[in-house]
Amino acid sequence: MTDCLFCKIVSGDVPAKIVRESGRTIAFRDINPQAPTHVLVIPKKHHPTVADLAAADAGLLAELLQEAGRVAADEGVAESGYRVVFNTGAQAGQTVFHVHAHVLGGRGLNWPPG
Ligand code: 5GP
Repeated sequence: MTDCLFCKIVSGDVPAKIVRESGRTIAFRDINPQAPTHVLVIPKKHHPTVADLAAADAGLLAELLQEAGRVAADEGVAESGYRVVFNTGAQAGQTVFHVHAHVLGGRGLNWPPG
């Protein structure tokens, strides 16, 4: 999609600090980190939400979650604990409608989230 920010990161038209890449996914640092580790993992192909991705390609969703786990290991937060979040829909705080898993760690995380 030409007007999608994360599609532009995939194409390289918008710069990002990429920390991992697989055939169908990339992971990059959030521009406004909410924790010492805050990485976004996305499919290269555009799907608006995690529900859309699950319906269209469950295998790609599984790959995204595997990559999230690898990011956590690379960042050294797998042992201490981390959170994987898909904000889904505007009321839940989704602002970029290209599905992304937030990988957050490196500090204590409260529950329930705000
Ligand atoms: P959402 O609110 O949709 O769940 O998450 C979108 C995330 O994208 C936010 O955490 C926001 O900080 C991040 N973000 C927005 N614009 C950019 C950008 O241009 N580059 C990067 N790396 N992250 C961005």
